[in-house]
Amino acid sequence: MSTVSQFLEAARQKTADSHERTAVRKAIATYDAKVADGKARFADWQNARAIAAGKKWDAINHLDRYLEQFERNVTANGGQVHWAEDSAQARQIILDLARQRGVKKVVKSKSMVTEEIHLNEALGVAGIHAIETDLGEYICQVRREPPYHIVTPVMHLTRGDIAKTFGLPATTTAEEITMLARDRLRQEFLSADMGITGANFLVADTGMIAITENEGNARLSFSLPRIHVAITGIEKVIPRFEDLALLWPLLSTSGTGQALTVYNSLITGPRPGGEFHVILLDNGRTSLLADAEQRDALHCIRCGACLNVCPVYKSIGGHSYGTTYQGPIGSVITPHLRGAAEWSHLPYASSLCGACTDVCPVKIDLHHHLLHNRRNAVRQKLDHPLQRMAFRLWLWAMQSPARYRLGGKLAAWAGHLGFKPPRNFPMPTGQTFRGWWKKVGQASRLSNSEKSTRETRVPLE
Ligand code: SF4
Repeated sequence: MSTVSQFLEAARQKTADSHERTAVRKAIATYDAKVADGKARFADWQNARAIAAGKKWDAINHLDRYLEQFERNVTANGGQVHWAEDSAQARQIILDLARQRGVKKVVKSKSMVTEEIHLNEALGVAGIHAIETDLGEYICQVRREPPYHIVTPVMHLTRGDIAKTFGLPATTTAEEITMLARDRLRQEFLSADMGITGANFLVADTGMIAITENEGNARLSFSLPRIHVAITGIEKVIPRFEDLALLWPLLSTSGTGQALTVYNSLITGPRPGGEFHVILLDNGRTSLLADAEQRDALHCIRCGACLNVCPVYKSIGGHSYGTTYQGPIGSVITPHLRGAAEWSHLPYASSLCGACTDVCPVKIDLHHHLLHNRRNAVRQKLDHPLQRMAFRLWLWAMQSPARYRLGGKLAAWAGHLGFKPPRNFPMPTGQTFRGWWKKVGQASRLSNSEKSTRETRVPLE
């Protein structure tokens, strides 16, 4: 089945899944209330967004300079930077590091980039046991399913669903489930040879990586095992340490409504006697960088706000997309990162309402980028031939009043014949606007003009 057919089938099924829809609605309603409170803590939220967008603009438009500065500082701090052009190279770097050091077990904290490069599968094939330690990701791993959301991996599950996943009674409390996972994971932290994390920000002027989390599992992942590997996209670099003063609260407010997440760590080098490696992944990001029109999509700080506000995401859910990054930002970047030929259908999964652009804390013009992607698909002839033909016909009809009239008549006949549009769309009324105007519109215009003539004739006293 093609990716577009898979997407349509999954979207059809998920839209009808009322259990999942209810869980997602509830999670997003809680999120909405918290984020509204969080934004109210800012003296000027719009100004904060504009400043953050400026900082990310600076970083992305001088990416070469800031990445090299970051590398120099990491090296000076005792770490090592590796550059990976694509997923295969990134996996190979990690596998080589692990094999050369006899690593048998890896603990991982939440990282969408490791999902992007399918790292767990590669480690499994190499005989290395990888354990997700973020609770949501751990649940995904036990269920053998990908994250549903870039911030909230199990947004679609109720407490009862999660209890069932662990073979517990449906009445098990959230605290009991958490304690069970915690007990299991503690053992894994203590016996792991390597910890793999992502990074929320790469600080160029200090060579630090900044990690934001709520559970403390990232801290255990990078501090208990002897070897720490952080893998992240090249777009995560920020120019200065002081930029975190804005970007940290902006990320946590848009991501979860918190003023700051519970744990914010800055890693400046290896622990005593340990190793610290940073893998900087391109994987299509430089092609997006080369596109001046859409380059600002690299400003994304992965807060997930555009997913939560998107009416399409709320209806079809995260798994339908079949991508690492779902929702509006996923539909903007996936055709660039994974190829437009296979993923050009995603930008059409949008109502273009613009809600994503309105909420984005770094002001990415998301809904226009969805339109740019649609335009690019048409230019590359990746749109469906029937769609192309329909638009050509429409263009032809719109260029002449006679053809436009004929089109209106054909639509009216279709209405008479009982033609039903495939979506919930008004039926053709059975008459054209011109026909209606002749009968009703002109009569009403005449009566209005008579009325206004009478009114103007009222003599002034
Ligand atoms: S595009 Fe904007 S709103 Fe969406 S995840 Fe990225 S930063 Fe957040």
